[in-house]
Amino acid sequence: MMRLGQPQINLRRLSAFTTFAAMEQMKDISARPGERAVEPEDKVFDLVVVGGGAAGLMAAGTAARDGHSVLLIEKMEKTARKVNITGKGRCNLTNMCTVEEFLTKVRANGDFFSHSLKTFTPNALCQFFKKQGVKLEEEAGRRIFPKGGKAYEISDALRWWCSDHGVVVMLSTKVEEILTAGGRVYAVGYTNKRGFRRKAEARNVLIATGGASYPLTGSTGDGYGMAHRVGHNIIPIRPSLVALRSDHPKMAALAGLRLKNVRAELMIDGEVVASEFGEMEFSNRGLDGAVILRLSRAAVDALIEEKKVEIALDLKPALTEEILLERIAREIAQLEPQAFAVELMRKLLPKNLIFTVADGAGVGIKTPVSRLTDEEIGRLVAAMKRVVFPIVDYGPWDEAIVTAGGVSTDQVDPQTLQSRLVKGLYFAGEVLDIDADTGGYNLQIAFSTGRLAAQLKQASDLPNSPTELHSNASLHA
Ligand SMILES: Cc1cc2nc3c(=O)[nH]c(=O)nc-3n(C[C@H](O)[C@H](O)[C@H](O)COP(=O)(O)OP(=O)(O)OC[C@H]3O[C@@H](n4cnc5c(N)ncnc54)[C@H](O)[C@@H]3O)c2cc1C
Repeated sequence: MMRLGQPQINLRRLSAFTTFAAMEQMKDISARPGERAVEPEDKVFDLVVVGGGAAGLMAAGTAARDGHSVLLIEKMEKTARKVNITGKGRCNLTNMCTVEEFLTKVRANGDFFSHSLKTFTPNALCQFFKKQGVKLEEEAGRRIFPKGGKAYEISDALRWWCSDHGVVVMLSTKVEEILTAGGRVYAVGYTNKRGFRRKAEARNVLIATGGASYPLTGSTGDGYGMAHRVGHNIIPIRPSLVALRSDHPKMAALAGLRLKNVRAELMIDGEVVASEFGEMEFSNRGLDGAVILRLSRAAVDALIEEKKVEIALDLKPALTEEILLERIAREIAQLEPQAFAVELMRKLLPKNLIFTVADGAGVGIKTPVSRLTDEEIGRLVAAMKRVVFPIVDYGPWDEAIVTAGGVSTDQVDPQTLQSRLVKGLYFAGEVLDIDADTGGYNLQIAFSTGRLAAQLKQASDLPNSPTELHSNASLHA
């Protein structure tokens, strides 16, 4: 198999149906290693994969390895654009926790996902990439990254793997609809780069179009409409793992501040509903960073329900109020009696937080420490243990790491990921109503579901020829 340079093209074998799109794609692909030109003699594919992200590439390569003819259609000019920006460009591809722990990190439909995960575990995923020549390393929190520190090691490995197994790839081609007849899929309709509508026939179709977040990567939620038009319910989609907006008056002063060890509590209508410990950061519009992202899913849902949402930060989670009081007493003893309260607070807090805490406690920063009353010190301690930020909104789709909601799992078989409504139609990745925390869980969801869907279970139940499918189409028109 040729890997680099010009793909081998037999122009005489181009059929009327594929000529235009095929030539376009050949032109595109010739410049890119690891992706192969359309071979138009494959007129009816065993599998058409819609979307060349993490799930689509994993599925396409798997099905091709198993001897199926596979066409992968990607609407962007290159596959796996989102994979390349994951983990801040380093790609946290999975998490080495146990299956049980993993499922606790899945926020919707963990039960549905468990079969996919057991079929293709984090360990199996790591073995897969190691076999493709990617060295991996484990970091804090059991997160796995490529050792080279580059996300493109993962996307390149997937592309080469697909290429090696003969996956046919069409780029800059947008799938618009899934064509069905008699309860079975038979083709996808797409728009090619020049704006012409064409169709590709298939015995099976996998929708792996991702979610609706970071739309510049190509994930614009197209799969929801396609699935809905063939009868699937869509659970309303919402941004998740997203920054939260606050109208706290000190936001501008806090912008840019990062905190390493903080406890954040999410309060909905005054009740604490979740709590996270770790890192966070402030922007001039609100709160961001790992602990906030983990709390964001429930916060977004509560905002949608027009509930009162607040985040309370404990800036000294390792210290009880009593220990903090003792610490303050020690600090005061070491300061000159006429030193201002601000000097005491400098010993306890980052600079940007001093005014916020002092304001919250109602203590003047220019009060000499010798004149601080026990009550004022008590209020300072309380303010450090609990700074409350009203949450008024959440970031837009182009800031959200994942999409909550999507194709309802009720109408998809968890053992095969085949639609219960349309035979030969499969789903994988973020298009499904499955989402998880940060930490490598979402990519593993994409890889595990892609792998399982590609097994094309119930393939024997499919019709024999496209002609049969077309006659079904006219019968049911
Ligand atoms: C900034 C950022 C960082 C992240 N970091 C991590 C991380 O470190 N670890 C982790 O586990 N998760 C991370 N995620 C989440 C993870 O990237 C996604 O959950 C995962 O990529 C989903 O894979 P997917 O294959 O379902 O969808 P995608 O990767 O979104 O791929 C979908 C593909 O389908 C194509 N497509 C869409 N519509 C059509 C159409 N009509 N026709 C043809 N093609 C179409 C798109 O162009 C795209 O290439 C991150 C996400 C973001 C945005």
